[in-house]
Amino acid sequence: MAVRVRFAPSPTGYLHIGGLRTALFCYLFARRMGGTFVLRIEDTDRARFVADAEDDITAGLAWAGLDPDEGPHLGPGYRQSERTALYRSIAQRLLRSGHAYAAFDTPEALQAMRDRGETYSGATRRAMCNAFTLPQAEVEQRLAAGTPHVVRLHVPEDGEVTFTDIVKGPVTFAADSLDDQILLKSDGQPTYHLANVVDDHAMGITHVIRGEEWLSSAPKHMLLYQALGWEPPRMAHLPLILSPGGGKLSKRSATRLGIPVNVRDYQSYEPEAVINFLALLGWHPSTEQEVFTLDELKATFSLERVAPSPARFDLDKLRWFNQKHLIQLGTARVAARVRSELESALGPIDPAYLHRVLVVVGERLMRRQDLFTRFAYFFQDPESYDPRGVKKRWKADAKDLVLAYADALEALAWPEADAQSPATDLKGAEGALEHALRNLAAMRGIGAGRIIHPVRLATSGTTAGPSLFAMLAVLGRERCVRRLRRAAAVLGP
Ligand code: GLU
Repeated sequence: MAVRVRFAPSPTGYLHIGGLRTALFCYLFARRMGGTFVLRIEDTDRARFVADAEDDITAGLAWAGLDPDEGPHLGPGYRQSERTALYRSIAQRLLRSGHAYAAFDTPEALQAMRDRGETYSGATRRAMCNAFTLPQAEVEQRLAAGTPHVVRLHVPEDGEVTFTDIVKGPVTFAADSLDDQILLKSDGQPTYHLANVVDDHAMGITHVIRGEEWLSSAPKHMLLYQALGWEPPRMAHLPLILSPGGGKLSKRSATRLGIPVNVRDYQSYEPEAVINFLALLGWHPSTEQEVFTLDELKATFSLERVAPSPARFDLDKLRWFNQKHLIQLGTARVAARVRSELESALGPIDPAYLHRVLVVVGERLMRRQDLFTRFAYFFQDPESYDPRGVKKRWKADAKDLVLAYADALEALAWPEADAQSPATDLKGAEGALEHALRNLAAMRGIGAGRIIHPVRLATSGTTAGPSLFAMLAVLGRERCVRRLRRAAAVLGP
């Protein structure tokens, strides 16, 4: 059987991070099974429709590298708003077979029912205004006159709805716990439940993979499949995503914890890292491996290894994945991703220089933005010096020492890296720089640390960073000498 999986977001807001997890699991399963990944836009809720949400969803999927095989990009038919006639005809069919019925209740009557703590179901429908309580002739006459009405699912009074969820295992709902779900609203628009079932069938979906919050809808969907004589797809409800401290990760709790909700707010992370992080929110490989590329995930993912228990969202873990993926991507690809951003902020940057910066920064790069913050000194002379570092490291003789070192660097035979060479070719310069510093320390009869710390502070403005000589070698003679002299003038004494 050819596997067909759909991601079916509602364009009621931007793609959120939990939605991307669902899309990812759909995508990985489809790819693993050699199946088809369909994007369907469930835009039946016109009241909550957000005009640019679909574009945001499409862009978010593209950013993450999850390209749908089918979807609105192919042409019409993948947005539910384009398929209303189909839903109406299926609702008619359900009315004719008695699996659905028309109901004419006023908003006031429905409110009174809710105030009594009741739901619209087998126990209460006979006290309401519908095809069960009105004479058939009257129902027909009202329908012919276009009296506002909804079409409701006729849920059996007793019995159970049972199915086996791939993730949750066997699930059972008592029929009397289900309400007579509205299928067609009074404006003739379908609800999610009707459109979802009709489309999953019409689009040949074999596996429904979605968040656990939809599990309680599944029995209603099963009843619809039964009523229509359609074979239901297999179901897989993905575990809830919890906030780091426990409790469902809601928009509110996420905002309070500084966790971005929308995928568009994760652009400062590498998409490979976000994907890797999301894959492990519920899925577990059979090995100890943690860092996965999308290709590796496609080759190993299985729904059987999705745990039914909730998954905890941990931003620190995402940061960790980001660092690992920056290393895995390699300097050339990272450079390609940051270059234009850096250039628009800081002016033109020599590609070979950027490459050497990335090599020397290495694993210290946690996020691309670190280049604009912690490592901005590679691109701009420091404008200030860490005051705590100055207090601790800039002793009375610091000015004299950094000036002496600047003189030494000017006189140094400095094997400049050629434009194309990687930072590893800077070893010669590193050695010469270190030699010059140790020479100076020996001449002054002081420890090398006495010079190393002020030099770092003067050239980078901070006290931490990569190996000093590697850093100086990358910065190059001109920047080093200029910065050493400037710090001497600014910091004195
Ligand atoms: N439109 C629903 C949503 O926004 C889809 C749920 C489902 O996959 O059935 O998540």
